[in-house]
This record gives sequence, C-alpha cells and structure tokens, in this order.
Amino acid sequence: MSNLEILQKSPLADVSSVPIQAAEKVLEWGKTLVVAPHPDDESLGCGGAIALLREFKGEVKVLVLSDGTLSHPNSVKFPPEKLRELRETEMLRALKILGVPAEDVTFFRYRDRNVPNTNSESWLEAVEKCRAYLRKNQAETILVPWRRDPHPDHRAAYSLIKAACRNSVRVIEYPIWLWEIAESADAPRFDEVFAWRLDISRAIKKKQWAIGAHASQTTDLIDDDPQGFRLTEDILANFAGNYEVFLEGK
Ligand SMILES: [Zn+2]
Repeated sequence: MSNLEILQKSPLADVSSVPIQAAEKVLEWGKTLVVAPHPDDESLGCGGAIALLREFKGEVKVLVLSDGTLSHPNSVKFPPEKLRELRETEMLRALKILGVPAEDVTFFRYRDRNVPNTNSESWLEAVEKCRAYLRKNQAETILVPWRRDPHPDHRAAYSLIKAACRNSVRVIEYPIWLWEIAESADAPRFDEVFAWRLDISRAIKKKQWAIGAHASQTTDLIDDDPQGFRLTEDILANFAGNYEVFLEGK
C-alpha cells in the first residue's frame, strides 16, 4: 500500500486542502523549543518555521536527542566519534543559517536509535533530564516529531517531551518519515489531531540551504560506506514546498 493510500483517511489525505496559517502566526508561539531526534530533522520538518521565528526576533532553542552516528555505521573514515562531531558541526551550521546561535543548541547525545522510550531502563532518568532542561528553558511552544512517526527515536522524542513538559505548553508535531514509510496505524486520526500548514515561502531559501548544510546526509561526503544513509531526491521532495505541515492534538 502506498503512503498516499495510508494517509487517505487522515487529516493529511489531501495536503493541498489543509488550512494555511500565515508566516506571522509563529509570533503567537512565544518562546519555542525545537526537539530534533537527529541532526537534520529540524531543517527538514521545521526549518522554515525556525527561520521565520528568528526573522521576527522570536526566541528559539534546539534540543538534539541522539548522536546520529548510525547514518554511516561501516565508515572507516568516520568512526562513531568522528561522525558525531561532523553531524554536530553540520547541525550548528544549519541552525546558524536559520538564525539560531550555537549557545542555544543542546546535544543530549543518546546513541542513535537508542533514545530512551517507555520500555527503556533509563526512561525515568531521561524524563527527569528533559524536565530539568525544560525547567531551565521555560518554552511556551515545543516542536517535536509526529507521535507515531515511523522511526523509534522520533516516537521516543514525542513520548519524552509529553512526559516531561507541563500541560500548559503548546506541543506542535511535525511529520518526517510519515510521508515515506508509514503503516496504517501510524497515520494521524481525525479524532486526535488537526492539521495545518505554515506558509514558509519567504524562508524557503534558508530552509533549503540549511538542509544542504547536513552534507553527510545529502552528498557523497562520506564515501566509504555503501550502506550509508542518504536523503535522496525523493525524500527531500517531501520538504521542498512553500508550506510546512504540522499536527496538533485536539
Ligand atoms: Zn530523525
């Protein structure tokens, strides 16, 4: 079953008819925290929103949960430690383009594909760590991957944030892998969320530039791992438009 069929009975069935919010609406978000399970999720899922927030002088902090070291597990030139450094450097470069300085970026460095989830032994410890971070940052709005995005770290990111944040915080979800590899149960339901699109047309160049800053994921920069991950043109096409799609709990 193709993904379009899977999303057919969801609020994303016809993305072109999902309501549009003007760029200026981000001003209502207040202090915003973007949670990225991996370096690149922020640029793909909400790079436009970040650029707009910064353009309007909004406060944006970014929390990166995993070290991203599974993208090229067999590379000899880039063993895990070196790959982590590279991906963090790319992340800071991307965020600089979007207007977020390095001091506003935090790396938790959980092992890639091992962001603690509700079944992990370290779950409670991780929730406490997030809670401490959130207490310090006092975000009013948090952007986090779609709750059933088909990647374990993305789902864990949502669970962690929901467990750690106060009820008064606005949580906005952004889909990443939902567009590509979702199964029926991953699709959003009308009874749980509503969808809207943010007009990011004025920030689209910055967004594309920021995605490109993740060169280890978009180019042959790491050329000694045939099984290495690549953001292909097909995948990137999901994030190339003038709108970013968001979901919000009812
Ligand atoms: Zn990711």
